[in-house]
Amino acid sequence: MKQSVVACLPNEMRTGKVAAEDTVDLMTMDPGQHRSWRVALYYCYIDLSNVPDHVEFHRHLCKNLSLKGRIRVSSDGLNGVLTGQLVDLKQYEDKVLKQLLELGTHQSQSNMIDLNTKYCFLREDLPILPQLFDKLICKETSSVICLFDNYQPAGTAASSTKENRNRRSKQNNRRVRRKKQRQEEKKHQSDKDISEERATLVAELPRIQNAMMTLSPSQHLTTEEWNDKLQNADGENALLLDVRNVYESRVGHFSVSNVPTLLTNTRKYSDLPELLAENPNMKDKEEVFMYCTGGVRCERVSMMMQAMYPQTKVYQLKGGIQTYLQESNNKQMCLFKGKNFVFDPRRTDPVHLGETVGRCLICEAPHDDYDNGHAPSENKEARCNTCRMLVLICNQCRPGYLCWGESEREDTKSDGAGLEGNRSKETRPWLYCAIDSLPKPAITSFANGPRDFELSLCVEETTMIMIYFFCGL
Ligand SMILES: [Zn+2]
Ligand SMILES: [Zn+2]
Repeated sequence: MKQSVVACLPNEMRTGKVAAEDTVDLMTMDPGQHRSWRVALYYCYIDLSNVPDHVEFHRHLCKNLSLKGRIRVSSDGLNGVLTGQLVDLKQYEDKVLKQLLELGTHQSQSNMIDLNTKYCFLREDLPILPQLFDKLICKETSSVICLFDNYQPAGTAASSTKENRNRRSKQNNRRVRRKKQRQEEKKHQSDKDISEERATLVAELPRIQNAMMTLSPSQHLTTEEWNDKLQNADGENALLLDVRNVYESRVGHFSVSNVPTLLTNTRKYSDLPELLAENPNMKDKEEVFMYCTGGVRCERVSMMMQAMYPQTKVYQLKGGIQTYLQESNNKQMCLFKGKNFVFDPRRTDPVHLGETVGRCLICEAPHDDYDNGHAPSENKEARCNTCRMLVLICNQCRPGYLCWGESEREDTKSDGAGLEGNRSKETRPWLYCAIDSLPKPAITSFANGPRDFELSLCVEETTMIMIYFFCGL
């Protein structure tokens, strides 16, 4: 008989009797207080049969432990990021693990269950409160991560877009509608223009998807093993693969002189299957070293890569960049340069060696703060006016551009009437991300800084931005 997972909670939790809220002032900058709070990342691939019950279990548990964040629950496992006091996060981990172990006894998976939890520090340059999630979103999704969402039949893909809308969306309804219309037109056109070669490739992906699910994730390398193998790899036959999106890679990435990196330049994870299938850079490679933020993305991409390139030995970094940085406090040994981009209210993890690898899109000065000194929760980050992607723009250049969500420019009258009064704001150009709408993978050694990223202009507004550049604005 199936036991309700909520019934696994202790009595005091089911009845909602919890300890009184800690009364610490979360806006102070006391490092001692910062350290009692953490961001916990975790994932676990496990077969779950009663997903709605699990969703309820996590909601109850988080409510009673005052944890906020995002949890995805699906039939293939769990993936979460939560903020809270370290002591509560540890309780959460214990209870989830216990519940999965009980479940696992029926699934002969009990000896393999691991939540792969990473407890990350808050940034000490910001108060505590803006670094904590303000709500809990716990929901059933189609999978732990959505690698193949682009290729599922219409209507079956997970609806993750809603949760990604930020608070400025109301001001931008008109622009979003315009963008949607443009995307639909573009999609219609690209459907018509789809090349025979690409059509064959896309048609092949369901076979890859089925084949990969019969394989196991590829070999994990610990921090030490990763350094050792990577530094001794034969650069002719090896490749580093950053499976993250372009805005993540821009502020931090692995960089080794002997092995080139394949940057996929994607905006979203689900672009990867099409980009990596039949990729000319991947052919004849004997070893591929892949990495992501915390490991959850590599688990699935490594299986996909084995299905696509059975001759290649694929390695993945155990615990991702997060674990690697926490274990590499020695500058000589650390092969990761810059900051680790994270999908929580911190934007970047505080553990890094102080190098700035990002560059301002406009003047190319070293810069790696998407928020220009603000807390990410203030929503003042610079975003592309067409695709909303994060854009690195330095503090000097920032005031000269209008980013997504900022006040619209009024039409300039050519008859001169009222021109003087409106000049200051309306002459600022819109900011674009300078990434083409279709991602293109690129091989790089990172020797040339930001130009190693794909830098064609986002969108049809190309003409407009060129005019601004020529006008010297
Ligand atoms: Zn600049
Ligand atoms: Zn863009």
